[in-house]
Amino acid sequence: MLRLSGTDVAKHRQSLLKTRIEEFATRRGRKPGLAVIIVGADPASQVYVKNKVKTTVALGMESFHFELPQDISEAALIAKVEELNRDPKVDGILVQLPLPKHIQADLVLETIRPEKDPDGLTVGNLGLLFAGRKRVAPCTPWGVMKILEHYKIPVAGRSAVVVGRSNIVGKPMAQLLLEANATVTVCHSRTPDLSSVTRGADIVVVAAGQARFLGRDAFKKGSIVIDVGMHRPTTGDFAGKLCGDVKFEELDGWAEAATPVPGGVGPMTIQMLMENTVQLAELKK
Ligand code: NAP
Repeated sequence: MLRLSGTDVAKHRQSLLKTRIEEFATRRGRKPGLAVIIVGADPASQVYVKNKVKTTVALGMESFHFELPQDISEAALIAKVEELNRDPKVDGILVQLPLPKHIQADLVLETIRPEKDPDGLTVGNLGLLFAGRKRVAPCTPWGVMKILEHYKIPVAGRSAVVVGRSNIVGKPMAQLLLEANATVTVCHSRTPDLSSVTRGADIVVVAAGQARFLGRDAFKKGSIVIDVGMHRPTTGDFAGKLCGDVKFEELDGWAEAATPVPGGVGPMTIQMLMENTVQLAELKK
């Protein structure tokens, strides 16, 4: 079985992206800029933000980092986003989730101008994606497409099943596979006999958020299995370890190729976030 390493693909794409950033800086006389806003002191969010800032700087981009207090009002947070919307040095704006309960996350995220939305999750950018005129695609499913492309796995004409229908992963994943000319089925928690559906597919993308819930018997022999799930269970054999939605070890000698967890889809998400920011910078007049 071919192990599809997102770590390797991300590394390869990082060096290409550095060159693209240098060329942008030479042409435009400034670096592409990514602004990250974090509200409060949630430790997990702080780790994510630290990684994003570190990667932004390592790639040669400008990083703007705002730490706002837990009790900031919704109006003040929206005003901050609007200020960044107007700032010509800022090409991408990220608001780290989760936000405190007194703030409506959807309202804040929709304040980000789609032209400055590197997550590709504003209604404007999702609308363009679904209309076949994408500006930037949501990072995780876009990263999956880049893994398939890197390993030259054909998509056109093949049957693909996506397990999960969230706006962040499942729905845009299905749309990207459709755009690449796969015949796509989307499954969710109300799909009866899930395995009978996934077993019919050449390519299965699993994004259900259920730790290790699909094993070998859910896939046909020779299929391509992409595991988007990300879990750190507190009990059982995998307690304290990172694992996905799929029992990766059962796929050896069965699947043609599969992504492990960790080291599969995860590293691609941050890479695509950086690429999307550069893409938005380049699109700016
Ligand atoms: P989510 O919003 O919870 O959506 C999960 C989807 O899976 C829902 O559509 C749900 O169906 C469906 N589902 C749940 N249980 C199911 C079952 N037993 N059978 C079939 N479908 C089922 O999760 P998400 O944000 O899309 O994320 C999914 C997973 O990917 C999570 O583990 C998350 O941590 C991971 N993730 C990883 C990355 C990365 O960078 N690697 C990025 C984002 C997310 P309903 O709609 O019917 O409820």
